[in-house]
Amino acid sequence: MTADQLTEYPNFFRVSDLCSLLESYLSEEQVKEVYRAYLFGAEAHDGQHRKSGEPYITHPLAVAKILADMRMDYHSIMAAVLHDVIEDTETVKEHIQSDFGEEVAELVDGVSKITQIRFNSDAEAQAENFRKMMLAMVRDIRVILIKLADRLHNMRTIGVMPPNKRRRIAKETLEIYVPLANRLGMNTMRLELEDLGLAALYPTRARVLREAVVRARGNRKEVIKKIETSIKRRLHQENLTGEVIGREKHLYSIYKKMKDKRLAFQEVFDVYAFRIIVDRVDTAYRVLGAMHNLYKPVPGRFKDYIAIPKANGYQSLHTVLFGPYGVPIEIQIRTEEMDKVAESGIASHWLYKTSNTNVSNTEANTRKWLHNVLEIQKSAGNSMEFIENVKIDLFPDEVYLFTPKGEILVLPRGATAVDFAYAVHTDIGNTCIACRIDRRLLPLRTPLFTGQTVEIITSEGATPNPAWLNFVHTAKARSNIRSYLKNLQQEEAVKLGRQMLDRALSRISKPLDEYKKKEIKPVLKEYNYKKLKHLLADIGLGNKLAPLVAQKFIQDEERTKLKRKERKKLKSKTVEPLLIKGTEGMVVSFAKCCHPIPGDAIIGFATTGKGIVIHTDACKNLGDYKKARDKLVEVDWEPGIDRDFLADLRLDVANRRGVLAVIAASISEMDSNIENIAMAERDGITTSMDITLTVRNRRHLARIIRRLRTNRSVTKIARRKG
Ligand code: MN
Repeated sequence: MTADQLTEYPNFFRVSDLCSLLESYLSEEQVKEVYRAYLFGAEAHDGQHRKSGEPYITHPLAVAKILADMRMDYHSIMAAVLHDVIEDTETVKEHIQSDFGEEVAELVDGVSKITQIRFNSDAEAQAENFRKMMLAMVRDIRVILIKLADRLHNMRTIGVMPPNKRRRIAKETLEIYVPLANRLGMNTMRLELEDLGLAALYPTRARVLREAVVRARGNRKEVIKKIETSIKRRLHQENLTGEVIGREKHLYSIYKKMKDKRLAFQEVFDVYAFRIIVDRVDTAYRVLGAMHNLYKPVPGRFKDYIAIPKANGYQSLHTVLFGPYGVPIEIQIRTEEMDKVAESGIASHWLYKTSNTNVSNTEANTRKWLHNVLEIQKSAGNSMEFIENVKIDLFPDEVYLFTPKGEILVLPRGATAVDFAYAVHTDIGNTCIACRIDRRLLPLRTPLFTGQTVEIITSEGATPNPAWLNFVHTAKARSNIRSYLKNLQQEEAVKLGRQMLDRALSRISKPLDEYKKKEIKPVLKEYNYKKLKHLLADIGLGNKLAPLVAQKFIQDEERTKLKRKERKKLKSKTVEPLLIKGTEGMVVSFAKCCHPIPGDAIIGFATTGKGIVIHTDACKNLGDYKKARDKLVEVDWEPGIDRDFLADLRLDVANRRGVLAVIAASISEMDSNIENIAMAERDGITTSMDITLTVRNRRHLARIIRRLRTNRSVTKIARRKG
């Protein structure tokens, strides 16, 4: 498609028109770049047509014109010309990047991404979240401006759409795009989107209103002329200069006022509205004084938005006067600068700024706008809530995610699938086992990004994993996992405590289950426990020592007059050590200093709050512990344990290239995983390596060591135990 081929559609805006518009504020080079983008876009869309029959490229051109009228920089215009090529043609982002650079590619990609998220109009309450989500998805506010221009052109040409589609698009426009434009202070665009939205959503109401306006307008002409003349005369008398503009209310605002305030058309429309644009703030207030002198002001209707600006930075003086024949006159008075901001909002920072724009400039522009609004609000002593909101929206700390049903959940940035699961429901969190993110099966620890659809897979009987605590971000997930683990730990502690007390009692007396309730009661009372399980839990957690508790049972037995002789006999009994499986969970742990593995001689050490910590018999740290005899627990491995334990190896290896790779490969071939490696060069010839690896037992470890010894680079190898 070339420029010439478009001549058969004379009503449409052509690339030559765009270029001459651009020449008024861009350099020759920049206009050439836009033209190059046009050629690319026209070729990509070649053969595609709009619903109305025109070649597709007429749409991106029209979008570019809207932005050119806003004096947007040439990268934005190029991106506007290309805005549909990723979405609607074979073109990929990389292609745009290589042809037009990173910045244009990012803009086009950004527009495509927010085009892909579909607003589900059933979820009307979610409109606010949806808008936030759009803002959160873009790193560059120009993406939103391009999207707004795209929507504006689509609304201007919505007539060709079938009625149901028209209604859906119009609704979305009023719910999503109008508030976006409003939030960014872009009034001119907002007003047009509103009127187009109204006409498409309620064609009959819009037509009736339009006809009423046309009828009423005829009667008004003379009155308007008369008022305008008086205003101008008065300004002249007072030596004030200002441009007086008569204005008419937009259909949508008439419609809304009638609807919200239940007013008749005449009541809303019979208002004569003028705007006076002045040079300085000082003049604005003096013009206000002159107007209040000219006509009597309506009490309570004066608003000083210069001193106290509106949330989006809008500044103006508003007043209502009793005009001739008692008709109300609305007057807005503001400076040129304020008028510019009132019309274009954030885009006013591109207007008339013809200097070369680059990436840092656009963020600077965005920040400048935010800063301006902030300054305006600060000087006015107004609430800063709005600006906080906008800031959060533009530089978000949150991610916006879809459930499979299309609802939107908001989570803090960095949140994972587990956070998402708990946000949906505590039960979902507690039983989740996997997740699908945008239909791909991914680990639960995967961080989530705005716009993704997350589906949580649960399994009945599944339970939270303590490891989740390492990556969850939300308080809800954290506290639920913690409370689950606490309950679990409690159960495990009771179980372990029972075994420990049972052994301690068996050694000096009789097993725990041979004790009657009334024998146990005094012990509980002495320790101040209500129930046996509380005492057992504390033993399991290492807070109470089983041998000492057992002594109390004996003393009680004395009270029940157990014979001394009998006690002696009992005392000589030997008791089997506590068997360790390694699956006890949170009340049995393995010391990091010596990393015991099945086959090692081991000893347990009751540690306050942690239950039993298992060390190797040879661990150096035990020297200190051994003084506290009551805390030692005799333990042994349960036979046939089949799970992985950690062990430490120290290797001295010759400094040879690739030696680490060979060692790692050998370990992996021996069915073991390396968990950690630390290396230190000892001299020029030898490096010392500390490797932590997984093994099942001593035999497994011995095989690995034998295998590593066959490597000639390894000069020394030994297991490290504390
Ligand atoms: Mn488009």
